[in-house]
Amino acid sequence: MARCPFHEDRHPSLVVFGNGWKCFGCQEHGDGVDLVARLYNLRPIDAARTIARDFGLHVDVSQPISTDARRKIEQARKKAARRRQLEKAFSRKVEEVYLQLAIVRRFVLNLKTFVEYEQVADLVHAEPYLEYLQSELQSRDITRQVEAVRAAERWF
Ligand SMILES: [Zn+2]
Repeated sequence: MARCPFHEDRHPSLVVFGNGWKCFGCQEHGDGVDLVARLYNLRPIDAARTIARDFGLHVDVSQPISTDARRKIEQARKKAARRRQLEKAFSRKVEEVYLQLAIVRRFVLNLKTFVEYEQVADLVHAEPYLEYLQSELQSRDITRQVEAVRAAERWF
């Protein structure tokens, strides 16, 4: 048993087992790699390398990875690529909507100058709203951008 490094532990509540550890105070648990990864804020792979180095363990990195692991890595790679593609398409969409709104807004501004106020009253009121939507589209917050794209589609 040991004092847990993950919470204010005055009396030892972390138990080390043959294949891992668990703190009965804060419920943190894991194996040796998890412990080193959390203690030193490392990725699991780097924690494993650290352990291997510190304890002089020989790790054969030439060992080919299993078909299953390879398949999982490939799936994750494809998923990441698909995500990047979607993100690109989305930012193109945001850009396009932004430009469309700019055109609408310019149109509204010109109307203010050239047409009787009464005729375009509702559009005149729309001007600050269009400006607001444009600033939302320019924000780097994806949730705000999605909302703005939805709201903007009403205008064209
Ligand atoms: Zn703990």
